[in-house]
Amino acid sequence: LLQLSVPLNFIGFVYREIRQGLTDIEEMFDLLEVKPEVLDAPDAKELVIGNGAIAFKDVHFAYDPARPILKGISFEVPAGKTVAVVGPSGAGKSTLSRLLYRFYDVQSGTITIDDQDLRTVTQKSLRKVIGMVPQDTVLFNDTIAYNIRYGRPGASEAEVTGAAEIAQIGEFIRLLPEGFETKVGERGLKLSGGEKQRVAIARTVLKSPPVLILDEATSALDTTTEREIQAALDVVSKNRTTLVIAHRLSTVIGADEIIVLKSGVIAERGTHAELLAQNGLYASMWSRQREATQAEEHLKQVREND
Ligand code: ATP
Repeated sequence: LLQLSVPLNFIGFVYREIRQGLTDIEEMFDLLEVKPEVLDAPDAKELVIGNGAIAFKDVHFAYDPARPILKGISFEVPAGKTVAVVGPSGAGKSTLSRLLYRFYDVQSGTITIDDQDLRTVTQKSLRKVIGMVPQDTVLFNDTIAYNIRYGRPGASEAEVTGAAEIAQIGEFIRLLPEGFETKVGERGLKLSGGEKQRVAIARTVLKSPPVLILDEATSALDTTTEREIQAALDVVSKNRTTLVIAHRLSTVIGADEIIVLKSGVIAERGTHAELLAQNGLYASMWSRQREATQAEEHLKQVREND
């Protein structure tokens, strides 16, 4: 929601930027959300992307200086690998993704992509290489085709429908009376959270970025939807450096490394099997979540048998 306190000339600026045909939906969100103090350095260079290796080194960050959120975080996402971040609500998980996308700058330490400090490169070149699938995707009041094509405005019709297939939303769209020309958004067809996320995935498939940030929705999805989204993500994240802010077991289990964040520090790290063996925070989160899922499945079966 755009606050009325946002100066009108700023809205005008955003409007003109959108009119000029930004190729990136994330850029529009940046314009609305980013604090103006995150500016390009006067001598900022274009990010030169290689394999897309990410490194956080001793990162400290606070939104409010009186309340540190990240207290010395170091980890790497090797090129092409997937790292999942889990942990209690408020631990600072989404903050990591916001820093990587450079909505904010770190207070100390560094974040690099292919050894280039994010603060030394232009934001435009940074965001060109990152695909972001946010928790809540905002769709334009336009057709589904338009919303998917936003990932790469020059994409052909076949590429748009192909991306929808990969994102496991193709069949759903084809069964709508107006198919890809169906209007969505506030004034059109209301899509569920899972459907919107798959549209966002289709958009990302078209953009085909070397680096992917996936901020999973916290809301529970039914098992079928979760499976479909996971299948889509497996395709998109294959051979792409992927940072997942994870809330679902399915994403976590397959990750190359899992980072357990607690109160702004890394409490545990390892693969799913290693962390289960440690029998610590991760193991207890996992068994709680599994019990919840089983209870839900059981309830569903009882209802279906009624
Ligand atoms: P969840 O699993 O609930 O999404 P999280 O681990 O992703 O939680 P973050 O969103 O990273 O948590 O937030 C970490 C802390 O920073 C929280 O205490 C939150 O209140 C605070 N915070 C987040 N965004 C801001 C902001 N823009 N300004 C001030 N504080 C913020």
